[in-house]
Amino acid sequence: MELVKNVVCPFCGTLCDDIVCKVEDNEIVGTMNACRIGHSKFVHTEGAERYTKPLVRKNGEFVEVTMDEAIDKAAHILADSKRPLMYGWSCTDCDAQAVGVKLAEEAKAVIDNTASVCHGPSVLALQDVGYPICTFGEVKNRADVVVYWGCNPMHAHPRHLSRNVFGRGFFRERGRPDRTLIVVDPRKTDSSKLADIHLQLDFDHDYELLDAIRTVLLGNDILYDEVAGVPKELIYETVEVLKKAQFGILFFGMGITHSRGKHRNIDTAICLVTDLNRSAKFNLIPMRGHYNVTGFNQVCTWEVGYPYCVDFATGSPRYNPGESGSNDLLQNKETDGMLVIASDPGGNFPQKSLERMAEIPIVAIEPHRTPTTEMSDVIIPPAIVGMQAEGTAYRMEGVPIRMRKVVESDLLPDREILERILDKVKEINASK
Ligand code: SF4
Repeated sequence: MELVKNVVCPFCGTLCDDIVCKVEDNEIVGTMNACRIGHSKFVHTEGAERYTKPLVRKNGEFVEVTMDEAIDKAAHILADSKRPLMYGWSCTDCDAQAVGVKLAEEAKAVIDNTASVCHGPSVLALQDVGYPICTFGEVKNRADVVVYWGCNPMHAHPRHLSRNVFGRGFFRERGRPDRTLIVVDPRKTDSSKLADIHLQLDFDHDYELLDAIRTVLLGNDILYDEVAGVPKELIYETVEVLKKAQFGILFFGMGITHSRGKHRNIDTAICLVTDLNRSAKFNLIPMRGHYNVTGFNQVCTWEVGYPYCVDFATGSPRYNPGESGSNDLLQNKETDGMLVIASDPGGNFPQKSLERMAEIPIVAIEPHRTPTTEMSDVIIPPAIVGMQAEGTAYRMEGVPIRMRKVVESDLLPDREILERILDKVKEINASK
């Protein structure tokens, strides 16, 4: 058995880069250091369906086809659609994402990633009021106050706490005892059980609580006994901890981006961090979900100037979330052909979007059987980035890390599949 060290986990935005893979006969049979979720991505689960050949739906049944035939069919779906949508991107590498942007331009498509159902509201907020961010290294070495607002890292980013809270740092030699941990969540979660202060607010009232904290911080009184279900004494106590921080960090997640107020919640959270910097040193980091959701927004921004929901219909990029988001286009029945890559909207989009997906041709570049592939007309299985293909990914706070290839695969990486579709779409467009 061979041990491959310093492997990067292709699952969540924590992007752990200290994984050891146990390899036997070109197969990953075990891991060290990975959490349960990361481990389950690396190791094949008995019975899970992994596609090995491209498939095209003919007379309602999937049949195996050559790669050339699958590429040709995929290119025609994009080139023949009036309003194609290219969605997903968060579980592949930056090189593939860059080819995807070129393909979207050639096909006059809308290109969008999972941010539009995830931290898109955070992107809108930071475009309004700024982005006071830092890296994990600064948190580990300096942070004495750590806040998790609307996220449950024990379940969604399992090694995040051990790296950022329990980890010993240069100025925090004892690790956890040197830090005050605050969790803000309506539920008692496994993360809140570890907290020194749990602000158990009423669901959907994050904006009110953020506003109350800012009110106290700016020297004003709260006029009520409680705000958002949190007693005012606890709010005063929390503000004292926050404003005395030598180095504070606010991690925030879906509980605040998806509850009532959406991007206005994040807007206020960013303003709170700005206010805190009058008396303390404070930063924030969004708990980005997929391992390379951040990478797509970086690539798309440097290529065309906008991070997601980018519409090439007129030939030059336009950006209007609310109109050019994937769910907007599906629910308004605008899109008439869809390419899905490294994502499973069939399993995650709302019913109304799925109804439109069921009506239009879909290409899925996807290694496993998912609700999306069940709805697709073409399935092209790629080599999996971080295991069978290398590439660059961006951690949740924007640190780029090179993903490693651990085992060989006969399948093409996403980037090459997209390049071949791009060449074919150019050919079709030239012949029109
Ligand atoms: S915390 Fe995330 S990146 Fe780290 S091993 Fe677990 S799933 Fe992978």
